[in-house]
Amino acid sequence: MSKQGPTWLRRTRNIGIMAHIDAGKTTLTERLLYVTGRSHKMGEVHDGEAVMDWMPQEQERGITITSAATVLEWDDHNFNLIDTPGHVDFTMEVERSLRVLDGAVAVFDGVSGVEPQSETVWRQADSYRVPRIGFINKMDRLGANFENAVESMRSRFAQTIIPIQIPIGEEGEFRGNVDLVAMKARVWESDDPRECTELDAIPAEVSDDADLAREALLECLADHSDTIALQYLEGEDISEEDIWEALRDGCTTNKLVPVLCGSALRNVGVPPVLDAVIRCLPSPLDLPPIEGVNPNSGATESRAPDEKEPLCALAFKVSMMDDGRRLVFVRLYSGKLGAGDTVYNASQGIKEKISRLFVLHSKTRKRVESAKAGQIVGVLGLRKTRTGETLSPVNAPIEVEPISSYEPVISQAIEPMSLRDKEKLDESLRKYADEDPTFCVRFDDEEDNETGQTLIRGMGELHLDIMVDRLRREYNIEVNVGTPQVVHRETITAISEAEETFDRETEDEKIFGNAHVRVSPGERGSGIQFSNECVEEAFTEPYLQAIETGCLEGTAAGPLHGFETDDLLVTFLGGTTRPGASRPLGYRIAASTAVRKALSGASPQLLHPMMTVEVVVPTEHVGDVIGSLNTRHGRIEDVSEIDSASRIHAMVSLERMFGYSTELRSLSQGRGSFTMQYSHYDIE
Ligand code: GDP
Ligand code: MG
Repeated sequence: MSKQGPTWLRRTRNIGIMAHIDAGKTTLTERLLYVTGRSHKMGEVHDGEAVMDWMPQEQERGITITSAATVLEWDDHNFNLIDTPGHVDFTMEVERSLRVLDGAVAVFDGVSGVEPQSETVWRQADSYRVPRIGFINKMDRLGANFENAVESMRSRFAQTIIPIQIPIGEEGEFRGNVDLVAMKARVWESDDPRECTELDAIPAEVSDDADLAREALLECLADHSDTIALQYLEGEDISEEDIWEALRDGCTTNKLVPVLCGSALRNVGVPPVLDAVIRCLPSPLDLPPIEGVNPNSGATESRAPDEKEPLCALAFKVSMMDDGRRLVFVRLYSGKLGAGDTVYNASQGIKEKISRLFVLHSKTRKRVESAKAGQIVGVLGLRKTRTGETLSPVNAPIEVEPISSYEPVISQAIEPMSLRDKEKLDESLRKYADEDPTFCVRFDDEEDNETGQTLIRGMGELHLDIMVDRLRREYNIEVNVGTPQVVHRETITAISEAEETFDRETEDEKIFGNAHVRVSPGERGSGIQFSNECVEEAFTEPYLQAIETGCLEGTAAGPLHGFETDDLLVTFLGGTTRPGASRPLGYRIAASTAVRKALSGASPQLLHPMMTVEVVVPTEHVGDVIGSLNTRHGRIEDVSEIDSASRIHAMVSLERMFGYSTELRSLSQGRGSFTMQYSHYDIE
């Protein structure tokens, strides 16, 4: 544990709770709020009353969509708790929150163990190197089995998974756990998660298991810590402090994942989760300095978690308040931020002014005058800053690695039921797009929107569904929507050339332009590139600028169905001139028309969003699953065995996945599950 730095920062934990949908994340969060005195009443998810799930849709659907940040106090420590969503349509939100967390509690269902989506999120957490502890929840459920759940973690995750508790009683009899560090048994037998009874002795029914599990814990720690190894080999008694120290080292370096058990719903085993967070997960001081790029010099710089360092803060969420102001959630990595400060947004190269700062508790906010390194706060006054952008002082600019974004691959036409609402609809859609980088809008009056309809785009059907629902609730706008469509792109598979002339004479002006262009296929993922092979001196900078703009405009809508084009190279080969009439505008239009013509002659093809699909089924159904993916033109990438189940990875185009959940359910008798994530655009 870091011995340097201010005590309050050493006593700060920025954590999140991550889980597969339904594992009990919201219920556990509610219990944590209650136990720490943050809320005086426990909400139940099934009553639609949970405090953290504050968007009405979340309460209705019982799922957590928006990450809300909240502050908790426990045992002289401050926790910033970020509630992360579990549905895969909101992966971007999960990623945004993982980026700013220092540690996480991963919740699993004691019956089903690790499910495919928890694996997806786990891997994201791996890539952001977020230290974790595991909580096997729902130990009260019929079929709950701690060992199996731990085994399912071991077989899927790279870290060493090590229980620091074992359950007392199972299923309906589940009532507490044995703490393997202190070797003490505790039971929770009231409705209040705070009320715990420590037993005089470990109950006989679990005492052998507890001895074995304690031995396994020490052996595992001996592998990771020299101190423990020595004491262990000498047969000495190992102190609780030494055990925690070793657990903490292993956990903060991402080698170990300590595992706890409980039942959030039955109020068993909740406070030890908070203790384990304090003991095992890092404070901002325990982490390496954050690295970023100085936009002026291009050099990599780092900022230590110290309020004396220059400010480095990352915006990780934007939300619109009821009065229309933007509330931007930021994580401070270094330095200080105060109301009235002017900050530099290095990503956009603009200055912004902070008007107010808030510490957040779900829906309520407490105003503060300033914030320091390690804190997470909500900020008012930032007019342009978006998710993933860095704030720093004007004289010490830095930009940290932005959060990767996803392609919105589903689109849907939308129109107000009543024309009166048109303006209000456009305005609201603009706001949503500003809040959520994975949601975009193409308005009907945009020049290159040939459909004449307003189109919304998002990560999946549920994502768009929720947006439409929000329009209804938050702005009282009733809309008609079209069927969700896959967003394609277009590319070319052959080289083609074209020449076009623009020639217009009005009463007071002549405008002429002529362009000869070539289009050729580019590699997948290369995007649209422009090059100029014309050497004629007549084409000065303003003309070349106009020609490049025109060429790019020509690629905006593909020849097949008007989708955006991708992965191609446009080359300007030359053009004729007409003295007195040549104008940049004429060349821009000629270039754009020439490119459009060349594209239609270049064997255009549709590009499909390809999804990485992962299916987990009992091994006896593997053949059927592979067969069904083949029918959907999927490319099977690998098949592996996990316990008695098999995992199949495949690449399948999104539109061929429609209806897959129903098919999978029927061919696996309801025992299979799958996830999919956008990978790239490709010809099928
Ligand atoms: P989330 O989707 O991960 O946020 O999960 P929720 O907290 O919304 O819980 C999903 C469902 O599981 C709800 O009906 C909860 O009441 C129930 N649940 C949560 N924790 C437990 C538990 O410890 N035991 C049992 N039996 N049910 C639980
Ligand atoms: Mg939830």
